[in-house]
Amino acid sequence: MPQNIPIVENILNANDRLAEENFTRIESAGVFSINLMASPGAGKTSLIEQTLPLLKDKLRVAVIDGDIATSIDADRAAKAGAQAAIQINTGGDCHLDAVMLRGALEKLEMDQFDLLIVENVGNLVCPASFKLGTHKSILIASVPEGDDKPYKYPGMYRGVDALVINKIDLLPYVPFRMDYFERGVQVLNPNVKTFPLSCRTGEGLDVWVEWLIQSVMRNP
Ligand code: MG
Ligand code: ZN
Repeated sequence: MPQNIPIVENILNANDRLAEENFTRIESAGVFSINLMASPGAGKTSLIEQTLPLLKDKLRVAVIDGDIATSIDADRAAKAGAQAAIQINTGGDCHLDAVMLRGALEKLEMDQFDLLIVENVGNLVCPASFKLGTHKSILIASVPEGDDKPYKYPGMYRGVDALVINKIDLLPYVPFRMDYFERGVQVLNPNVKTFPLSCRTGEGLDVWVEWLIQSVMRNP
């Protein structure tokens, strides 16, 4: 068999192909999009809640929330000022996939927004394997989870474009060695952009928000 046949089509699985369609849809509306991933309790919804008021009057934001059963997170996003908040109930699935995101995108007038935030299901394993079609993948780690997470969940840390380290206000109280954590990240993802912050105290949020705004501005 010839070795040089085009194999790209074969490598892309069905999910990846749908993710590309999602990306085209988002991109052609001029929207910048992020996929927020984390373990349960790391602060995905809290980060959205703290971020939205800081984007008020600057960006029009849509939030899509993946959850196994409830609409609590979408309600919180709407309350925090999202112009639209859509819930995807995964019906027990522990991650979002491109089909689910497509269903949610169909409910949004995409050209009404500048930024789309997708909150994935809380899980540190499989969300990394299911592309959704967003511009950037972002992982939220949190201090109380421990400093060994990059070593235990390398797949998640390897693929992301940015890393938020939440709950830094707890650093004095828990045995979290930042240098050990960062060494683990460095090996897996040397160029990842890192945002240490605290959703509780607000420390570091300004840098994160500025990055979001700049990312939207750079997006044609
Ligand atoms: Mg949440
Ligand atoms: Zn899963």
